[in-house]
Amino acid sequence: MALNHTHDPAAKSWLESANAAGTDFPIQNLPFGVFRRKGSNEAFRGGVAIGDQVIDLAAVSRAGAVSGLAAQAANAAAKDALNDLMAMGPAAWSALRHALFDLLREGASGPGVQALRAGLVPMADVEYSLPTRVGNYTDFYTSIHHARNVGRIARPDDPLTSNFQWIPIAYHGRASSVVISGTPFRRPMGQAMPPGAKAPVYGACKRLDYELEMGFYIGQGNRQGEPVPMAEAEQQIFGMCLLNDWSARDHQFWEMAPLGPFLGKNFCTTVSPWIVTMEALEPYRVPFAHPADEPQPLAYLDSPANRERGGVDVQLEVRLESKQHRARGLSADRLSATSFRHQYWTIGQMVTQHTVGGCNLQPGDLLGTGTISGPTYEEAGAIVELSVGGTKQIPLPATGESRTFLEDGDAVILRGWCEKPGAARIGFGESRGEVLPAIG
Ligand code: MN
Repeated sequence: MALNHTHDPAAKSWLESANAAGTDFPIQNLPFGVFRRKGSNEAFRGGVAIGDQVIDLAAVSRAGAVSGLAAQAANAAAKDALNDLMAMGPAAWSALRHALFDLLREGASGPGVQALRAGLVPMADVEYSLPTRVGNYTDFYTSIHHARNVGRIARPDDPLTSNFQWIPIAYHGRASSVVISGTPFRRPMGQAMPPGAKAPVYGACKRLDYELEMGFYIGQGNRQGEPVPMAEAEQQIFGMCLLNDWSARDHQFWEMAPLGPFLGKNFCTTVSPWIVTMEALEPYRVPFAHPADEPQPLAYLDSPANRERGGVDVQLEVRLESKQHRARGLSADRLSATSFRHQYWTIGQMVTQHTVGGCNLQPGDLLGTGTISGPTYEEAGAIVELSVGGTKQIPLPATGESRTFLEDGDAVILRGWCEKPGAARIGFGESRGEVLPAIG
């Protein structure tokens, strides 16, 4: 994919809020989600974020505001999930993006512009549903910094498993408990083996954690038995979102040998409402390489394009808002910040690894990148790393509280954005989830 006029940093919209400094949703972004008016009985339908508004793709489709392949794509996106749009493939996604860009651009006029304008809904008045019917959810483990930090806590004698630098590791997660941002969840019950105990205990999770991740959605998918090679892997990716892989560390560390996470992860996964397309992310692609003195990817996980532009430079941050923050009207405290560019494997490598044995990916499937931790302590993407396994208090300066793990009433907010000189700043919005007390 090459840069085109939809990436022009000088492009402006007739919609003033799309030109505001610091907006997540300028005309160069145009991310997709599924929405309806808050508290209404309207059907959920596809939408595109622009400034402080949402473009109603069902209204755009009905009004015939776009034509050709873009009209077919808008029609597919008018439903209550985007699986059919994703199944159409990159040419259709791009045709709709370009058609909407042309209608939104400063100076645009005509019946299409009038129809699109009539289909705008203020973002403040909408609620979201999951962007796809998630048939399958897989979570990878591709930050070497996270793997080392957690490995030192879980397996001090063998912090980095011998496979990590050779394979993008993952587990198959649970699609049914993926929820949209804003959905609260109960602290999970389960079994844990406390340090030094002779027998496990059953009870509410005492080491509840978040994981700062990105998710990405699959486009057309592949037939069972037909792997996706590296040269085609990125064409299978519709776009990226923010993802929080909530984790019950006490349950997880007791149960995960030898088959991997089960109840420690399957109670809830939160995704952000907006999916930023790979075309919108194009200005922020960065080279990928393993350090020269570390194992190099096997040939099936390597390609010139992946070396040249396999990474994505997305800035990420985690904030915690406690009951006290809310009661006293204080802003959430920032716990950490990092970039997705530090990841040890790319999203293309994840797609190829997932399918190399013959596994079929389907339109709308959700893949998580694994916790995103950068090279320094301040860039850790989970509280178990910041609190070094619960041994170090993390201060919340705004309220004077501190944490080692999450408490009831805590909300965790993930944010992501891309910015650099010579390109428009684009954002992902936020992913938010709040911990409710366990039902024991
Ligand atoms: Mn995870």
